[in-house]
Amino acid sequence: MADEAPKIRVLIAEDDPTSLRLVEVMLTKWGYQPVLARDGEEAWKVLQADDAPKLAILDWMMPGKDGLAVCRELRQQKDRPYVYILLLTAKTHESDLIEGLGAGADDYLTKPFSREELHARLFAGERIVAVQEELTRAREALREQAIRDPLTGLFNRRYLEEALGRELRRAEHGHEPLGVLMLDLDYFKDFNDTHGHAAGDAMLNHLGAMLETHTRREDVTCRYGGEEFVLILPGMPLDVASRRADELRQAIGQSTVAWEGKGLASTTVSVGVACFPQHGTTGEALLAAADQALYRAKREGRDRVAVYAQRVHEPV
Ligand code: GH3
Ligand code: MG
Ligand code: MG
Ligand code: MG
Repeated sequence: MADEAPKIRVLIAEDDPTSLRLVEVMLTKWGYQPVLARDGEEAWKVLQADDAPKLAILDWMMPGKDGLAVCRELRQQKDRPYVYILLLTAKTHESDLIEGLGAGADDYLTKPFSREELHARLFAGERIVAVQEELTRAREALREQAIRDPLTGLFNRRYLEEALGRELRRAEHGHEPLGVLMLDLDYFKDFNDTHGHAAGDAMLNHLGAMLETHTRREDVTCRYGGEEFVLILPGMPLDVASRRADELRQAIGQSTVAWEGKGLASTTVSVGVACFPQHGTTGEALLAAADQALYRAKREGRDRVAVYAQRVHEPV
């Protein structure tokens, strides 16, 4: 048997039990899954849930919070999925219709209404909801593209700057430290020259995956540039951040990259470490401090971790 598509959930808010039951029966017959609310307060609760229905039939006149109020309050909420609202009412004046649509209703049906008309209007609502969802998906996909590096799937430099600012504000506010690591592959030009650019890409990809598995969920892992990576480590004090940097350095140096059926030895990395608040209080200053430390790690022989303005940790 073919899988049936999940039923579309439709909220019906109606204080008159007979009318509620009538619409419930119709919706069920048409293949929807009715979600019932007996007044505006109940309707509001249903619409605030994470899995709120995307289609709602609201009676205008209800005790307490009426359909119009639900409509207005819902439209004030900007970052929730769109709910298509069909207002149901005995009011027939043109001014009522204007008021209803002005409150944010998408459509309007006066009682008594024909079944066919309700069915047709619900169908139109379904189409609008589908278009809205498509828009949301497209917007999210665009956002992902804008903040991800296509080769490694890590965040890009643009996102790093945004995230670093946000994490710094949070750290400052909560009087928490924040670690920043800047990693650069050693002699990566030679790796490319020896194994080819495609193997180099596989190496970068491998490094991205290693960074992801060796970090915590709250860490932000970015490809900063060609073969440079930056890690933001919220809540991490300097001693822990430099220890973590050295563990990473060792793990990367010992790993192999799968390439054309063989395991290529990974290149080593040099790492610069800087920490908020002692090495800087802005994203720019912290990145500059980590970069300076990285430069020192390179100068003093590579395959090592250097902390900003501190002595180099020799490799073990
Ligand atoms: P160092 O130890 O001083 O960092 O030496 P290095 O050779 O790693 O540094 P250099 O800055 O001289 O060269 C960086 C190399 O990284 C050269 C460039 O071709 C390579 N690279 C940058 N981006 C990519 C990429 O997306 N794919 C590949 N395969 N290579 C890249
Ligand atoms: Mg009513
Ligand atoms: Mg390099
Ligand atoms: Mg570099």
